[in-house]
Amino acid sequence: MIERQVAYINEDNCIGCAICIEVCPFDAIIGAQNFSHRINFNECPGCKICIKKCPTDCIKMIKVSQNKDDIKEKVKFNFTRREIRKKNLQKEYADNISKQLDKLLEN
Ligand code: SF4
Ligand code: SF4
Repeated sequence: MIERQVAYINEDNCIGCAICIEVCPFDAIIGAQNFSHRINFNECPGCKICIKKCPTDCIKMIKVSQNKDDIKEKVKFNFTRREIRKKNLQKEYADNISKQLDKLLEN
């Protein structure tokens, strides 16, 4: 077990802007627009990017004790998942744009 720092959201002050979800490189934050957000600390390596971006200053670092191997696996898994999702989204946008262009050109 090791002790490490992870980010934690004080949900009372979270306005649900979802900025933290956008900026988290490890996909460790859960929440929907306009609802309070949470950080899955198992998947947070503690980069602190979300803290700098939160407009209400409701994210802080806390200490947790965890198994070292578990942390590596989870963080790696999430990083890959985020990259895959980004690629899929880009493809979806490109497909939509080309469909809309096709429609426009039909008329
Ligand atoms: S500290 Fe970094 S990894 Fe952890 S939730 Fe914030 S942005 Fe994500
Ligand atoms: S950036 Fe801050 S206020 Fe916005 S959703 Fe995340 S924790 Fe809540």
